Amino acid sequence: MAPAGCELARKLAGGCLEGADHCPLFSENWPGALSRREPLAPLTTFRVGGPAAIMARPAGLPELAALLAILQRRGCPWRVLGRGSNLLVADRGYAGVVIALGRRLGKVELLPAGPREPLSLLRVEAGCSLASLLNWTAAQGLGGLEFLVGIPGSVGGAAMMNAGAFGQCLSERVVALELVSAAGLSRVEPGERLCFSYRRLQGVAPEEVVGAVILALASREPEDIKKTARHYLARRRAGQPRGVASAGSFFKNPPGDYAGRLIEAAGLKGLRVGQAQVSPRHANFLVNLGGARAAEVLALAEQVQAAVRRQSGVELEPEVHFLGFS
Ligand SMILES: Cc1cc2nc3c(=O)[nH]c(=O)nc-3n(C[C@H](O)[C@H](O)[C@H](O)COP(=O)(O)OP(=O)(O)OC[C@H]3O[C@@H](n4cnc5c(N)ncnc54)[C@H](O)[C@@H]3O)c2cc1C
Repeated sequence: MAPAGCELARKLAGGCLEGADHCPLFSENWPGALSRREPLAPLTTFRVGGPAAIMARPAGLPELAALLAILQRRGCPWRVLGRGSNLLVADRGYAGVVIALGRRLGKVELLPAGPREPLSLLRVEAGCSLASLLNWTAAQGLGGLEFLVGIPGSVGGAAMMNAGAFGQCLSERVVALELVSAAGLSRVEPGERLCFSYRRLQGVAPEEVVGAVILALASREPEDIKKTARHYLARRRAGQPRGVASAGSFFKNPPGDYAGRLIEAAGLKGLRVGQAQVSPRHANFLVNLGGARAAEVLALAEQVQAAVRRQSGVELEPEVHFLGFS
């Protein structure tokens, strides 16, 4: 049932984007940038899906909190978009407000380390890309994040997904998260109270957004950091498809096994539904060969799940998040 007071939310129940014309955000004098019916496909690495009814781009955390307060008061549905590298958007788009956290929310700063010394404490706003963060930390001689090289996400998205590679994950470096809600910068949640697990973070409420991440990093020679990052990047490039749109690994690895191995064992490499394909190079990458529809990606994913279930008795769980499906 759609909350009262928001035409957009009422339209959501009908599954259409007409609510964009009536969105109360435009009459609220919110200072951030707003647009109607903005295509989401170019804002995701999958390059799939329809538009956002409304796109909102806050320029700072106070603006983000003000936006969340308006959306809560008006009962408007919303979702956060980082770099869109773990997201499949529905063909009809999202009939709500997409809050895009981009470069304008990408500040990186050193904090006093206090009892954490000799580690350095770093505060990184959620919209910062992992690539920018890695450049910054390498230049400062702060190591420990090199395993993230080549992951095309934002810091906020990486925290929500507990992004990881080569046996390491972001949660190992997280000291705390700054969480923003309609009430403002509502809380700083220490790492030990957060529940990170494989590609998952629990403990952030649905009405909260990760505004910034506090990390603890060790000093290291910049040249050593760059060398380690180059090593990881070469390993990544050797095993993954390049130059083709995807959201990385589509399924989570089941305990004690690899989704890619199970999909390959079921003989599914190269399987196609329309323009969506199981990558011939890495079976856990579902790729968009050009102009794929979300419905094709979903149909392919369901075929993969069914074949692996039949072959190995394993139920593959998507790692990718979904936007606009109901
Ligand atoms: C080629 C390729 C390789 C990849 N390799 C890896 C890999 O090795 N390891 C790995 O872990 N992942 C990998 N990924 C997946 C992806 O890059 C990561 O999951 C990344 O951390 C997602 O960040 P994002 O900013 O793109 O999140 P998005 O895709 O924008 O969002 C993902 C989810 O997090 C939510 N979200 C995003 N930001 C916030 C926020 N600030 N507050 C609250 N919720 C938020 C979104 O609403 C959504 O539900 C890969 C992807 C690609 C395309």
